[in-house]
Amino acid sequence: MTELEFITDLHKNSDRQGSGSENDTLKALDLSNLPTDQNLKVADIGCGSGGQTFSLAKNINGQITAVDLFPKFLNELNAKSQNLGLTDKIVTLQKSMDNLPFNEGEFDLIWSEGALYNIGFENGLKKWKDYLKVGGYLAVSEITWITQTRPKEIEEFWKTEYPEVYIASNKIKQLENNGYSLEGYFHLGQDSWIETYYKPMQARFENFLKRNNNSELARKVVEGNQAEMDLYQKIKAYYSYGCYLDRKNE
Ligand code: SAH
Repeated sequence: MTELEFITDLHKNSDRQGSGSENDTLKALDLSNLPTDQNLKVADIGCGSGGQTFSLAKNINGQITAVDLFPKFLNELNAKSQNLGLTDKIVTLQKSMDNLPFNEGEFDLIWSEGALYNIGFENGLKKWKDYLKVGGYLAVSEITWITQTRPKEIEEFWKTEYPEVYIASNKIKQLENNGYSLEGYFHLGQDSWIETYYKPMQARFENFLKRNNNSELARKVVEGNQAEMDLYQKIKAYYSYGCYLDRKNE
């Protein structure tokens, strides 16, 4: 297996593959003022195994197209969807988020939790805008500084990891420059990192190492994730996922 396959293996059979929670998803949905009782067309891009997809499906009428690059996650999502009786509401699509087969103005809502960074925030804003109706909504969560200043080494670490980490006001400017207006913003609280994401992941380490014979690459993946968690504990005062609820206005 490649390192990427080990990473997806560590994340399989989990409720979510990134920070967030059902409360956060519903809070963001609430900010949209969309008529959730009407037949909405929704895309959930970078859906993983569908944590937020199910929260949306339970609270929205209409159809959700759940998109991810990895079939492993989509297979899990389909199995859960069957158990929850939600197959008439959710279809899955294995595609890369930078090359989607959608039509212009197709969606009322595009959702993406902790995934847009894969193709870059501004790039995604531009690419996905075409698929939204005018007046439709884009809901994204994205790494964001939550303080105006921060220690230099933290700034430098993130600059190399993901150069588009900014404070929310910069991100909002990016949205506005690309034809969206901000309808709502909040950032995830610490529980949405630790309780719903990191702790369940940590609990999977032992089994993951066992089923992969404690191989060097498997250990490397665990160490990498442990290091990310340790880093979060150290610098959580400075960053989080910002949740941006944006309306396409032209
Ligand atoms: N939204 C989920 C998963 C977030 S993790 C949650 O919050 O739990 C990021 C997801 O993006 C992963 O499922 C990963 O497989 C997917 N992904 C990464 N690159 C992608 C790409 N180019 N196109 C589509 N999905 C991608």
